[in-house]
Amino acid sequence: MEIKSKLPGIGVTIFTQMTLLSNEHGAINLSQGFPDFDADPKLIELAAHYMRQGFNQYAPMQGVPVLREKIAAKVRESYNAAYNPESEITVTGGATEGLFAAISAVIKPDDEVIIFEPAYDAYMPVVKLNGGVPVFLQLKFPDYHIDWDEVSHAITPKTKLIILNSPHNPSGAVLSPADITALKSIVRNSDILILSDEVYEHIIFDGLIHESICRHPELAARSLVVSSFGKTYHTTGWKVGYCLAPAALTREFQKIHQFLIFAANTPIQYALADFLDNKDAYVNLGAFYQRKRDKFLSAIGRSRFKALPCHGSYFQMLDYTAISDEPDQNFARRLTIEHGVASIPPSVFYHRNDDHKVLRFCFAKKNSTLEQAGEELCAI
Ligand code: PMP
Ligand code: GLN
Repeated sequence: MEIKSKLPGIGVTIFTQMTLLSNEHGAINLSQGFPDFDADPKLIELAAHYMRQGFNQYAPMQGVPVLREKIAAKVRESYNAAYNPESEITVTGGATEGLFAAISAVIKPDDEVIIFEPAYDAYMPVVKLNGGVPVFLQLKFPDYHIDWDEVSHAITPKTKLIILNSPHNPSGAVLSPADITALKSIVRNSDILILSDEVYEHIIFDGLIHESICRHPELAARSLVVSSFGKTYHTTGWKVGYCLAPAALTREFQKIHQFLIFAANTPIQYALADFLDNKDAYVNLGAFYQRKRDKFLSAIGRSRFKALPCHGSYFQMLDYTAISDEPDQNFARRLTIEHGVASIPPSVFYHRNDDHKVLRFCFAKKNSTLEQAGEELCAI
């Protein structure tokens, strides 16, 4: 029987591939984005506590009420934004499920979706599964900023959605107040919706402020904002996130969410609700990761790699023009096999391979890991 793929051309994700290759060769894995240190023992204890107390059956479809209330309080405090926990907040199975439900809730066949490249790999396939048409625009090298003139030229009567991601994976670029002003003027008087992927919302450096879409009521009114506790609490394996959206959009979002997973993990939701009382854990996260970024930068300081600007996320792009003119996918594989450091080749985040000679390195790692990786990278 011949199976006609709904996603021809899509294989196993680069994260799976590079982590496999890294493990196979015993390399230092700076490819897939996850910490190599553990979550706060208090958070783990809370999760164990709720499991032992019998909080082990289905949560409400929208998420447990106490967690939705705590998320509303965090968003109010962080961005001065009011989301109603009853009707405007959904707890999701990680940001990945949130993105899938958000895109599926709003995209119909032939709707156009603006996606900035390099783009996290979870957007385009979902647009296509829903019959939507991705319209790719390139972020401008080397700081990966948006060219808003290009955006206004790309808008057509069919444009339904703009997908934003700040702090940005893989580049570490962040949206500025000027970006927000430009975005407002582009969408004003239109029916264009925004999907804002803000999973790295608390990982921002150099005194910059995260320009959450939530801060801007005019934009929030037409936006779905997706975040993830995996990044904030060093628990990428727990797969719990959330989606904020006005009630009418949340209703549509939940129609899909209820059939994707119905509800997120119950004991973890209760644990997160308690842990959210400890504001320091997310307020200090930017400083924590800025030290990691700087540690990594100093560890590769003597190398022939050249660091590109990184103002947020836990990824650092390194230019390897001085070392090799190989395409990034070859070089990333060779670096893993021959030099013992795994990274991500960003060309996979483009619909047509791009030929910049850069690799993405995850610095959510113990200092000893970063130092060891630095030694290997300096020896090349
Ligand atoms: N969006 C971006 C930009 C990401 O980097 C990631 C994961 N690393 C996700 C979404 C998915 O988050 P989650 O693991 O919570 O599904
Ligand atoms: N978001 C993580 C990264 O960018 C990986 C998530 C995944 O493996 N799907 O590395």
